[in-house]
Formats: sequence, C-alpha cells, structure tokens
Amino acid sequence: MDFTSLRAFIFDLDGCVYTGNTLLPGVREFLQELRAAGRKVLFLTNNSREAGDELLAKLTRLGVLAAPEEMLSAAEITGPFIRERFGPSRVLAIGSERLRRLLAEAGHALVPLDAHAEAQVVAIGHDFGFDYQKLTALSRAVRRGAAFVAVNLDPRLPVEAGEFFPGCGAMVEAVATAAGVRPEVIGKPAPHLFRVALARLGVPPEDAAMVGDSLNSDVRGAQGVGLRTIWIAPPGATSEDIRPDITIHHFDELTGRL
Ligand SMILES: [Mg+2]
Repeated sequence: MDFTSLRAFIFDLDGCVYTGNTLLPGVREFLQELRAAGRKVLFLTNNSREAGDELLAKLTRLGVLAAPEEMLSAAEITGPFIRERFGPSRVLAIGSERLRRLLAEAGHALVPLDAHAEAQVVAIGHDFGFDYQKLTALSRAVRRGAAFVAVNLDPRLPVEAGEFFPGCGAMVEAVATAAGVRPEVIGKPAPHLFRVALARLGVPPEDAAMVGDSLNSDVRGAQGVGLRTIWIAPPGATSEDIRPDITIHHFDELTGRL
C-alpha cells in the first residue's frame, strides 16, 4: 500500500490509541509524523456512552493533541441518525446519561419505561443498570413495531488486565431475541459511522486508511465502505479470512513511509 496517496488516517481508540489509561507505544510519534506531513486525522469510536468532547479530554490527559472536530463517537451521531430517518421521535432509550442528553438535544422526546407503548423508536447504548424491567419494556416496544436502533453491537467493553464488562451488543441481543427483530446499527462494522467520518474529512474512501485493532469491526467494516486498512494486531491474533492491507504489531512499523 502506497502511503503517499493517503490523505487521511482514521484511528480507532480502544485497543488502538490506548488501552484503559495507557497509550500504545509509538502511537504519539506516528500521529506527530502524520500531522507534520499534512495528513488529516480523525478518531472514530463505537463508544455508546460518551461524546467526542469527553474522549478529547481523555486524549489530552494522555498527551495526544487533537481538535474537537477530529473526534467522532457512535453515541453522538445516534440522535441525528434517528432524526434523519424518522424525524423528531418519541424515543425509549437505555444507556448513559450523556447518551440520553444527546438524544434530547437532537430533538427527540424521551419516553419513560412504563410508557413503552408510546415509543416510536427504541435506542440502546451500553447501560450499567440494564435489568429485566428494561428488557421487558424495550422488547415490548420493538415487538409492537417501534424502530430498533443499536448504537453498536460490541460484545464486550475491554478494561485493563484483560478483563471486560458485557458490552452494548449483549444488551441489544437480549432485546432482539425477545422481540424477534434485528436492529439498525450505528457503529462499526456497519457503514453509517464510517460514512459520517468520511464526510467530515471530505475525502473519498480510497484516499483514507482505517487504523484499528478489531478485525471484525475496524478492518471488515472499513473494507465494506472502500477504505484502506491497517490492522494493529493484538498479541497472538491471526487474520484468517479477513485481509487487511497492512498488518502491524507496533506503530514504529509505520514510520518513514509518508
Ligand atoms: Mg478497538
């Protein structure tokens, strides 16, 4: 892959730029090299709990400089997506307080759990308070015909030391199973988040590379919209049937190619 033709680099965050509160070795230096060479940079995450400003604060804390418009999370485009597709809606949502606020800011009315019959749209983000009562309300609303939108289908939220929490996808699948309906998905590997990123960067997909650690969500998803792909392979992982353009194990393998 010829790096000189690439005008933009899109980075996944978790497991690519940082893990927990630790930057991956060499990533800061590679970012500096990209900026010195005048390349566009964007940070793209399936995060269903936080918007770009919170993620920017974390990057800054870790010593990586970025502009607000270089941050894009699945959480922040969920409200606009629902608005584009269905207009301002009565939304039954679970997830973080911030996700609920973002939905309201996009012009939607939030429906309480016990009024699930009034919901036009069900939206699911990662929710640490997920329980049977929520599952019942959400699946009844979807079964009744409300549009079903998942911020992402990530099975797990990785935390430090190889540990994890069940992810947004685990909650979505519970609702999908009970309702017998599959959701529309905002985040990777679905195309919507990538398309919003490319529109913001103002480049065609063949002029941009997606850099990420997940074969399924970063590499396969990016290939689906025509992006070039750079896979930062977690230790011991192999690519099997998905073929990234470039596989690396350390960011210093990318230096000196621009
Ligand atoms: Mg990742």
